[in-house]
Amino acid sequence: MSRRPSLCAAFAGLTIALMAPVSAHEHLPLRIEHRTAIRDLPVPSNPAHSLELRAVNLDRWPESEIHAALRTTAQILGHCGIRITRVDVLNVTAPETHRYFDTPRSRELARELALPKPAVFFTAGTRQVPAFDAEAIGRGNSRSRPELMDTVWIAQGARDLGIVVAHELTHVLMDSGTHDNTPGNLMAENTTPQNTQLTALQCELLTATGRRNGLLRGVD
Ligand SMILES: [Zn+2]
Repeated sequence: MSRRPSLCAAFAGLTIALMAPVSAHEHLPLRIEHRTAIRDLPVPSNPAHSLELRAVNLDRWPESEIHAALRTTAQILGHCGIRITRVDVLNVTAPETHRYFDTPRSRELARELALPKPAVFFTAGTRQVPAFDAEAIGRGNSRSRPELMDTVWIAQGARDLGIVVAHELTHVLMDSGTHDNTPGNLMAENTTPQNTQLTALQCELLTATGRRNGLLRGVD
């Protein structure tokens, strides 16, 4: 069976976002059905930075799939001395229109939920054109859509989920859409099971920027 690599569109939506105004604020009927905290993710051998995440399940993704993905993400980011200390997973029932990544609707959703960041949204899919499996929004590409700052949006069907989440979170922590197509690098444009490594320089960039932006903290 052929494998389709997951395509990333980090920092790609600048012009689209600029054209998409948010509608007048109306109360969005959201229901948080269930909230769990994951605290048993793999711990790196030399943790130097801690990261807390919010994960929002918008499309009945199996909890086990999200948990397994986050374990992989923790292992990958652990190579940079980052320990994911806690992930709050929220199962949210939202209107059909807001279960997909779609800049104006996703802005409404993120504004209504008002979660601490970084936050990873597991969606039903994407309504963006072109359609990508995953998108990351940092500081540099969120001026016109501030509600989406420091968020990651994953489409249902994205392959290699844990690697995709690690890749997109790296974009957010680095506040950069830069890719590195060196074989084996996590930040290659196409996410594959082989692309899991971060160089010392990438680790330095992502931890320094993540700390500066308050997304990473020191370890106790
Ligand atoms: Zn990317």
